[in-house]
Amino acid sequence: MSKHQYAMVMDLNKCIGCQTCTLACKKQWTDGDGMDYMYWNNVETHPGIGYPRGWHTIGGGFDARRNLRPSPLPPKEDYGEAFEYDYGQRLYGGRNKPVMPNRPPTYTPNWDEDVGGWDKDNPYFFYLPRICNHCTHPACLEACPRKAIYKRTEDGIVLIDQERCRGFRYCIKACPYKKIYYNEVTGKSEKCIFCYPRLEKGQVNACAAQCPGRIRFVGLLDDPESPVHKLVLKYRVALGLFPEKGTHPNVFYVPPFNPPKAGSAGKSILEDPRLPLDYLIYLFGPDVVRVIQFMEGELTKAQSGGQSEVLQLLIGRDASVRYRVVPDVVRAAANRDVAQKMEQSPAGGPPQAILGTPAQSGVKPPPARHALGSKHVPPTPEVAMAFGVPVDNPASSCNTSTGAGCAGCAAQTACGATQKGPRHQGEEGMTWT
Ligand code: SF4
Ligand code: SF4
Repeated sequence: MSKHQYAMVMDLNKCIGCQTCTLACKKQWTDGDGMDYMYWNNVETHPGIGYPRGWHTIGGGFDARRNLRPSPLPPKEDYGEAFEYDYGQRLYGGRNKPVMPNRPPTYTPNWDEDVGGWDKDNPYFFYLPRICNHCTHPACLEACPRKAIYKRTEDGIVLIDQERCRGFRYCIKACPYKKIYYNEVTGKSEKCIFCYPRLEKGQVNACAAQCPGRIRFVGLLDDPESPVHKLVLKYRVALGLFPEKGTHPNVFYVPPFNPPKAGSAGKSILEDPRLPLDYLIYLFGPDVVRVIQFMEGELTKAQSGGQSEVLQLLIGRDASVRYRVVPDVVRAAANRDVAQKMEQSPAGGPPQAILGTPAQSGVKPPPARHALGSKHVPPTPEVAMAFGVPVDNPASSCNTSTGAGCAGCAAQTACGATQKGPRHQGEEGMTWT
C-alpha cells in the first residue's frame, strides 16, 4: 500500500474528443522507436470497440477469489496501424487527389469515431479518454514473473523497471484495461508513467495541462484539499471504470450526465435517458444511477438560483481549482529503498499455470444491443469516407491491378473502392507473438 496516491478524475460531460491529450502524450513520451502504435493516452468513442479492439470484452483483472483471469494477448492488428501515406504521389504527382494511406486500413484507434450507438431517432455517444489507472491492486504487477512492475510507495504511480523487464507480456494479458504496450524494438513492455517527472517538479500531467475541455482534475486522493478527493470521496460523483475487474483503478470518471431524449425536455434524465443506462452501468457499475440522480438534483438546484459546490468545482475554470500537485509532500514520503527492496525480493511471482489461459467466465458481456468487440466490425461511414474503405460493398468495383487502389487507377476518380490484395504485406517479419 502506498503512502499517498495520485489520482485523476475526468468529467466525461466536458470531453469534446479533440485528441489534444493524445497528441500531448504522444509527443512527450511515445515518439521513439517501436512506439508508433502506442497511445498511452487514447480517446475512444462509446459505445464502441475501443483501443485495442474489443479490450473491454476480452478479460483481465481478478475474479471474486482474487485469482488473475488473464485475457488472450491482443494481436498487433487490434491496435490499428501507423499508416504510411503516399505523399510523393499525392503532393508531387499532382491531380488534386486527397492524401490516403498506402493501403486501406482495417482498424484504427477510435474506429467508431462519433458514431457510437446508432439509432436513427436517438443517436448517442460520448468520448472516453483512457490512461493507465495506476491501480491500487495492479493486475499487471501481480502477473509479472520478473517483478519488474512496481508501485511507488510515495505516490502510488505504477512503473515498469526497464532493466528487469524481459518482454514476457503477462502484464498485458493481466491488465483488464490493456494499458501496457510491447515495444518490439527494445523487447520490453512500456506504459503510462502518469508524467511522474513533471509531477516531481510541480507540473501537472501533460494530457491534463493541454486539455482544452478542462475535463481533468489531478491530485492526491488522500489529500482532503485536492479536487480528486472532493469529487471521488466527498461528493462521490466520480467512478472507476469496470470496478468488478478488481484492480481498484485510480482514474475516475464523472459519468455522462446526459439530457433526456429529444422531445422530452423537462423530464428526468433517468426517466427518459438518451444514453441507455444499461450501457453506463456496464462501464461504471450500478452506482452510476445514484451519481446521475445526485447530479440531476444539483443541476436543478443551480437552475433555481441555488449554489452547487460540486458543479462549480466541475466547471474548473482555473488550473488552481483543477490541479493540486504537491511534490514536497510526495518527496517527504519517498522511500529511497524501494528499488533495493525490489532487487531483494524473491524471484518468481504467481504460478504460471494461471497465466495465458483463455478469458474465464465472469467477464461481464456488453449489453446485447451494443454488439461490440467483433473482429469484423465494418468501418463506420466516417472512417470509410476518410480512408476510402467501402462500407456495404465489400465486392468493390475497384479494378486496378497495381495494388495502389485509387492512386494507381487510370480513372483517378477517388471512388473509395478497395483494391484487393494482400492485407498485411510487409508484416512477415513481425515478432509479436
Ligand atoms: S490499468 Fe492495467 S497497467 Fe495500469 S496499473 Fe492497472 S492493471 Fe496495471
Ligand atoms: S484534450 Fe481533453 S477534451 Fe480533448 S479529447 Fe482529450 S480529454 Fe477530451
